[in-house]
Amino acid sequence: APSVCAPLPVLGRDVTVPLVTGGEVAYAALDYAASAPALQRVWDDVAAYAPYYGSVHRGAGYLSQLSTDLFENARRTVAEFLDCRDGDQVVFTRSTTDSLNLLAAALPAGCQVFVFETEHHASLLPWRDARVTYLDAPRSPRQAVETLERALADRDPYGPALVCVTGASNVTGELWPVRELAAAAHAHGARIVLDAAQLAPHHPVSVADLDVDWVAFSGHKLYAPFGSGVLAGRADWLREAEPYLAGGGASRKVTRRTDGGVDVEWHDSAARHEAGSPNVIGAYAVASACKALTEAGFDTLVAREQYLVAKVREGLADVPQVRFLSLFGDDAPRVGVLSFVVEGWNSSHFAAALSAEYGIGVRDGLFCAHPLVRTLLGSDPQTQGECGSPEAAPGEKSLNAIRVSFGAGTPDEHVERFVRAVR
Ligand code: PMP
Repeated sequence: APSVCAPLPVLGRDVTVPLVTGGEVAYAALDYAASAPALQRVWDDVAAYAPYYGSVHRGAGYLSQLSTDLFENARRTVAEFLDCRDGDQVVFTRSTTDSLNLLAAALPAGCQVFVFETEHHASLLPWRDARVTYLDAPRSPRQAVETLERALADRDPYGPALVCVTGASNVTGELWPVRELAAAAHAHGARIVLDAAQLAPHHPVSVADLDVDWVAFSGHKLYAPFGSGVLAGRADWLREAEPYLAGGGASRKVTRRTDGGVDVEWHDSAARHEAGSPNVIGAYAVASACKALTEAGFDTLVAREQYLVAKVREGLADVPQVRFLSLFGDDAPRVGVLSFVVEGWNSSHFAAALSAEYGIGVRDGLFCAHPLVRTLLGSDPQTQGECGSPEAAPGEKSLNAIRVSFGAGTPDEHVERFVRAVR
């Protein structure tokens, strides 16, 4: 099949790495699900902004005002990218993990939280202070909706409730039925937050159309550099909550009381949760990535990625030792993320060999989704379980897996080399 379209230029494509077999090879980064390389366009935009660097929200000077405009325009660009509703807020954070912890800190008193055990730890763990119901791994999108509906039907119908769900799994790449889950949540008076860390880089995300209350994603998976993330969605819970961080920027007015204490009026806007000097370059880079992806067109990006997924699947279809991991079935719709085990191989050794002998970077381990990976591997939760690369005893089944992931910048050659190496 012909290549669907050219990959978008990204940084690092010409980095060469030494091989243990001798010589050097152009590095094939096939670990986009962990961090995607920044788009060349994002880097160029950041470089073009650099001379205008100034503090935001505080300075009267020209460069401060320019930086403030860039920062606030970035907020608008992200709101457009996510197709937010009127009145929604876009809060800049450090990452998806930070965004979900922010929301967890903003939950109303007595909030019940419903979360599938299959979630990434960033969406599984922040709800420690709430009443959490963990839902068993579903084996089809339909079962996911039915499981959620059953759990919500049993809930205290008067208190606030939140469902947290991922849009695309960081382990299997499978797409989750977000619109249906949102409808189920709302039918039972609950709200829903979408973990779009893996979805947003690969698919258009419309807050309005999916009818989710919040969405969280990370810049470094969306072809922007590290250090910036987004939480976008309904303003009410965010406005009513205590600030995530206390400090300058979040406070509108601070006064000394006659009894010697201090009174604080906090901002009602997104600034309420952005105390301190914000990561302006990070926000600007995220906005630049949003624009670049929109201009490239998600139809084209999705078509190219599906072409690459098919290349991997077809290239390894006749290798019986390779078992791909999936909850919803091998043919379920997915983004460019595939995890697998190779019979007779320790996954960590396999991944190390891909790097050392072929210059291919993949990830091995449990992918910060321990319960999901154990369910997929059928391994015993008691036997092991550190994040990282546990060793399987000789002759035992794999205790961890290998993940290959790609996206907008991936050339055909990287995927072809991967298939050849695995074979
Ligand atoms: N959710 C999902 C589905 C992810 O894949 C990741 C990152 N692997 C996260 C959340 C957390 O993202 P970050 O590390 O950028 O906070």
